[in-house]
Amino acid sequence: MPESLVTIFYIVAAVLFILSLGGLSNQETARRGNIFGMLGMLIALAAVTGSKDVTAYAILAVALFPAILIGATLARRVKMTEMPQLVAILHSFVGAAAVLVGLGLQLNPTSLDGLSPIEITIHEIEVYIGVCIGSITFTGSIIAFGKLHGLLSGKPLLIPARHALNLIVVGVTIWLGILFTGHSDNSMLYLLAAMVITGLLGIHLVMAIGGADMPVVVSMLNSYSGWAAAAAGFMLGNDLLIIVGALVGSSGLILSLIMCRGMNRSLISVILGGFGTGDGGSGAMQTPEGEVTSIDIAHTATLLNNAKSVIIVPGYGMAVAQAQHTIAKITKKLRDNNTQVIFAIHPVAGRLPGHMNVLLAEANIPYDIVMELDEINHTFPATDVVMVIGANDIVNPSALDDPNSPIAGMPVLEVWKSKDVIVMKRSMGTGYAGVGNPLFFNENTSMLFGDAGENVDAILAAL
Ligand code: NDP
Repeated sequence: MPESLVTIFYIVAAVLFILSLGGLSNQETARRGNIFGMLGMLIALAAVTGSKDVTAYAILAVALFPAILIGATLARRVKMTEMPQLVAILHSFVGAAAVLVGLGLQLNPTSLDGLSPIEITIHEIEVYIGVCIGSITFTGSIIAFGKLHGLLSGKPLLIPARHALNLIVVGVTIWLGILFTGHSDNSMLYLLAAMVITGLLGIHLVMAIGGADMPVVVSMLNSYSGWAAAAAGFMLGNDLLIIVGALVGSSGLILSLIMCRGMNRSLISVILGGFGTGDGGSGAMQTPEGEVTSIDIAHTATLLNNAKSVIIVPGYGMAVAQAQHTIAKITKKLRDNNTQVIFAIHPVAGRLPGHMNVLLAEANIPYDIVMELDEINHTFPATDVVMVIGANDIVNPSALDDPNSPIAGMPVLEVWKSKDVIVMKRSMGTGYAGVGNPLFFNENTSMLFGDAGENVDAILAAL
């Protein structure tokens, strides 16, 4: 394919990626955004394959087809509740790719052919930065996968003097970088050493982050994976990879900032880790206790039938129980009965940014009755019934009134201000952050124990 055509394809793909991001910013256009993204990726793949840089088609086919098969099978089979882990592991692949590109270029003696001394130094800096960012992304994402999959504890690992340790690692990485670009015979050794210590830094950075802050970690690693891809683009001299990497890197950063705002944290404090231990205040965390009131299906249906206004708060448990389709039917029934029904979405509900929005969209819940935390929090006092479906941390009042709570300071949905609260969950167990929830002991809270899927089916039948 002539180079000019490849360039045109690259420009078309880049425009499609920008349109894709624009589409993803709104639920109504998200599907279109996804299609633009897929089209852009197809065009990019076709252009790269047809470019003069690719000649070994047999090797490409051997690498590509099993990868497409494995990727498509895994993505089809993965449960919605395992999506966060899938996203985390995919980030690790981008990191690994950047590391491999860097090492490959370093091992290839012809990669410096025809370059002036200053161009060689720039190339070496690109390789070094690419390998370091790639390595942090790779190991950090694997740890994030382990934490999200429950293989590793969600509790933050707090090594004494961890900030000093991180600073030393950064210092050593810079020093190795200076040695690496000094055209020494040991440059491969310096590169490998940098890969190992930045890999350890990635492990340490994510291990130090507590369960409640994991949403920001997922979006930060998304951003790192973008920068790793951009670094690979610089190393390979591929403009499209640089553009795509920069788009992913910056949108991941913006998402991290949005998540931080949703949790009332600063990005720096999340990156430095340590939240999620309850060591934010000066004393011990309060343990909620008291009488718990249970409710049955018939009484729940009566409360809903008599209510003029209902707010539904979905959480991770709704995703586990796949209760959204029945909830959509309950919503229709209540609305047909002239009851006002609104969905309240917390920015960190579930296990992925936008997790609840995706599930509600899948069940065709109208977008105009789905509200964000800021829009809905003031309406709870005027609401008759709040149904909390498999949510816990996002409705925990201790975030507001217990300074020693691991989630202290995080804005939550203030459901307890409504007339009646029904909480659907299977036990008195804690949520992702591992914190007891005083909401369950409130006088106006009734617990509807059991699997949320079975309970909503029964409520629908009773209605
Ligand atoms: P939580 O994890 O706080 O609580 C979910 C609750 O659902 C559990 O307490 C569980 O209680 C209940 N549950 C689980 N399965 C079922 C079921 N089948 N039927 C009924 N109930 C069920 O979820 P939230 O959505 O409230 O909060 C999200 C948490 O996840 C936050 O701490 C957030 O920081 C964190 N997080 C969010 C990410 C994101 O990007 N959104 C990413 C990573 C972490 P029981 O076992 O008793 O049934």
